[in-house]
Amino acid sequence: MYRTDYHIHTTFSDGKADPEEYIEAAIKAGLNEIGFSEHLTLTPERQKWSMDQTRLPEYISRIASLKKMHTDIVIRTGLELDYFPGKTRELADICEAFPFDYIIGSVHYMGEQTVDLGPEFYIGKDINVVFENYFNLVCEAISSGLFDIIGHVDLVRIHRFKPSTDISHLYEMVADSLARHDVAFELNTNGRNKPLGDFYPDRQYLRIFANHGARVCVNSDAHNPARVGQFFDEAYELLRINGFSEMSAFINRDCYQIPF
Ligand SMILES: [Zn+2]
Ligand SMILES: [Zn+2]
Repeated sequence: MYRTDYHIHTTFSDGKADPEEYIEAAIKAGLNEIGFSEHLTLTPERQKWSMDQTRLPEYISRIASLKKMHTDIVIRTGLELDYFPGKTRELADICEAFPFDYIIGSVHYMGEQTVDLGPEFYIGKDINVVFENYFNLVCEAISSGLFDIIGHVDLVRIHRFKPSTDISHLYEMVADSLARHDVAFELNTNGRNKPLGDFYPDRQYLRIFANHGARVCVNSDAHNPARVGQFFDEAYELLRINGFSEMSAFINRDCYQIPF
């Protein structure tokens, strides 16, 4: 079984350790590939957990030198780029300026606020509307053509606020869009470490993604080395029982499939 983990944060953004420590952890965890995906957010006032854009050349060359040093594991260069509507040109400029292997597009922001940092965002809001707006933003991100992978497609579940109506149509909409635009989603295991206590996306809708033929990869979203590859055996099994038979891998912004 060929194992990849494309969602890793180091001290270049809000992770707790140097890239080298994640590589050691990945080798110990039996991974074949590790990809770094530091947070990048467009506007400076939003950069608390983001790498500063001016550090991109240093980041790229650091990963490049690690690639040369390691023949024991495949290393990929990625980014977790925040999607903002109306900022497609600025985002494309970043994606095109450096030799990335893949770009993860994530919706953390709805307007000026993030959906994940605390439960306050949800207080006093119509949760049905929040979910609908969030999924619409995710679909915009998918169809933007900017991204290879969409990060945690239903991050809006993080603080356990639940819509009162059936939302399977929202998952149908996202899965359909992923398949039509050849963009992968991730089974993100880090939700298990959050108030949510489970993976993204919601396991009850995984079959919808398989039925639409959406591409998938399994990612840890690790912010410390101990979490690289965390819960992956369970994640692979979950994908298998929901009808997936292959995973997406990336190089030079090309996607290819690896059978389970
Ligand atoms: Zn994220
Ligand atoms: Zn992340």
